[in-house]
Amino acid sequence: MEIVAQDKNDFKNVVLRIPDGTTIVKSGAFSKCNWIAEVYIPEGVVKIEEFAFKYCENLETVHFPSTLLEIETGAFIGCSKLNNLQLKNVHTIGRRAFGCCLNLENVAMPHVAVIQDFAFYMCKNLDTVTNTDNVQKIGNEAFAHTGENVLIEFHEPLVCIGTGAFKYSGICCVILSKCVNLQIVGAGAFEKCEHLLAVGFAPKTQIKLLPPKMFRNCHNLTGFNIPKGIVSISPAAFENSAIQNITFPDSLKHVARRAFHNCSRLRTPVLPREVMVDPSAFLGCRPISAFEMPSATVQLDVSDKMCSICLNSFGKEENICRFGCSHVFHTECAKQWYDMANTCAYCRQEVTKVEVVQRPVKRRKIV
Ligand SMILES: [Zn+2]
Ligand SMILES: [Zn+2]
Repeated sequence: MEIVAQDKNDFKNVVLRIPDGTTIVKSGAFSKCNWIAEVYIPEGVVKIEEFAFKYCENLETVHFPSTLLEIETGAFIGCSKLNNLQLKNVHTIGRRAFGCCLNLENVAMPHVAVIQDFAFYMCKNLDTVTNTDNVQKIGNEAFAHTGENVLIEFHEPLVCIGTGAFKYSGICCVILSKCVNLQIVGAGAFEKCEHLLAVGFAPKTQIKLLPPKMFRNCHNLTGFNIPKGIVSISPAAFENSAIQNITFPDSLKHVARRAFHNCSRLRTPVLPREVMVDPSAFLGCRPISAFEMPSATVQLDVSDKMCSICLNSFGKEENICRFGCSHVFHTECAKQWYDMANTCAYCRQEVTKVEVVQRPVKRRKIV
């Protein structure tokens, strides 16, 4: 083996060239060798065994060969200066393989299919993860506690997102819109992702239930389209989130306890009778919209009145409604107002009912 020190007196800045002909870097081979700054792994190496480079705390650059297929458990755990990974043809990233690589920012993984549990756990500076085209499985907590402002996209091969896969991470946006084969999303997959703004699922996937605590404590997630085919929403799936806009698919049969507990921006929806809704499912949400309750129709001549929200008088073809306090508005104006406040725009009384105003048809006198 050739070991080249850049400076004879500097044993902390060594370039390591593993000899040609090597096929496996054995387990623990360079564990805690904190004199390595850069390592060249030659063509021909197919596997880096467990803990091969663990806690090489000055290791900044690793040159992977195109023959490398597997990186085993903890192979680079705690390499806190490692910055950039070009994984070429690597197929499997083992458990904790890059855990606690605190300076890791960029990872390109064009042939990775399996990311095992905790693979990037605590990579606090992880910023871009690219070339994820072939990822099939994301292990438990694989990206938990990772960096901020990450946008990540996965593709058709993705089948499984493990328990807590992204929890407590700074991820902003997860694009899953091509993942029609997705079968499993584990509990708490996105729990307490404080920066999470959007997760785009494919309109239809193989998933039947949204897991427990899926988006719990996501304080910036305001909207989510539940994919078609979802039958059940598990306990605390959206608890304490900022969810405001959500679509419920026709396939839905069950909303479990505390599923939307304390989603204070969400109006309690009116779901079809067949859906079993736990009494605590929508506890702490805004009341049911008065516009969604069954409303009566009243005959009323409003021809010489005006809407005190937009200050226009009522045109012939416009929809008009009356609140319980008897004040009348354009229906569109009233809805927009009501989205912001529960009170009448004119007298500030609480809105308890909304009636549809029908103007009496004026019959011409036949002379
Ligand atoms: Zn109006
Ligand atoms: Zn009023």
